[in-house]
Amino acid sequence: MSFNIIDVVALVVIGLAVYAEAGRGAIQALGDAARVVFGIGAGLLGWHLAFTLVGGTMAGLVGLLALGTGAVLLVNIVARRLFPDPHPGRGPLDRTIGGAVGLGLGLLVNLIIIPALAIGPAITPLVERSVVGHRFLDAVPGVYDAADLLDIRFPSIGSERNRFQSESPANGGAFVGRVNFRRYDRTTCIECGGRVRFDGYRRVKGTVIAPHFTCSSCGRVSCGCGSFEAFHALYRRCPYELSVRGMPLDCGVWPSGRPVSPEVECPVCGRGGER
Ligand SMILES: [Zn+2]
Ligand SMILES: [Zn+2]
Ligand SMILES: [Zn+2]
Repeated sequence: MSFNIIDVVALVVIGLAVYAEAGRGAIQALGDAARVVFGIGAGLLGWHLAFTLVGGTMAGLVGLLALGTGAVLLVNIVARRLFPDPHPGRGPLDRTIGGAVGLGLGLLVNLIIIPALAIGPAITPLVERSVVGHRFLDAVPGVYDAADLLDIRFPSIGSERNRFQSESPANGGAFVGRVNFRRYDRTTCIECGGRVRFDGYRRVKGTVIAPHFTCSSCGRVSCGCGSFEAFHALYRRCPYELSVRGMPLDCGVWPSGRPVSPEVECPVCGRGGER
């Protein structure tokens, strides 16, 4: 770990945000925070609605920009009504509150730009080794957890397919779009039939993020492919279809080192029950 250019970028962003908002004073700074928070919130809602109703990344982007911009304009109108003639104070308290808001905004901006920078393969190792910068990359799985908690579609960094690039070829299936993995907590282990626990999302490497599951009985770990229910949701086929072809299963994302052919009955489609 070493202090590098990514740390410089992160600290400059925070420094500029604190400096700018301290100068604008408390009321103006809170207005900026409202624009950013409502803009991002409405933008994500726009993405979710457009993606669900129309489908596709382009539609999602249009929805994101339309509702995001709309929310910012709305905040501007409300702000003008509430403070028709803002005389920003310049006292120490005013500057301190402004600076604190700027700190929050700087952190938020870093949470967006640092992972975006890390998508570049040449920049990924720089971000991972940086002292401050890597924290913003490590925070991304938490954002995915929040998106699943709210059950919204989320514009993922890299493609959805990317998350499973090391997985799909190994299991011979095509990944079929977003799955809310929280729903597959306490599902059935393909190895022992025990309960599989959803641990949340984790960073595999670089900007590749995958869900992490652990069986509470046998300890088998997987991206969800170690659970009958999640496997069905991910690949629209049964783990049994692969083991029939003589392919023992092990997760390509989180290998457990124990390739296994399922032997208990699949609770989704009933295969394996006859044995
Ligand atoms: Zn198990
Ligand atoms: Zn099945
Ligand atoms: Zn897997």
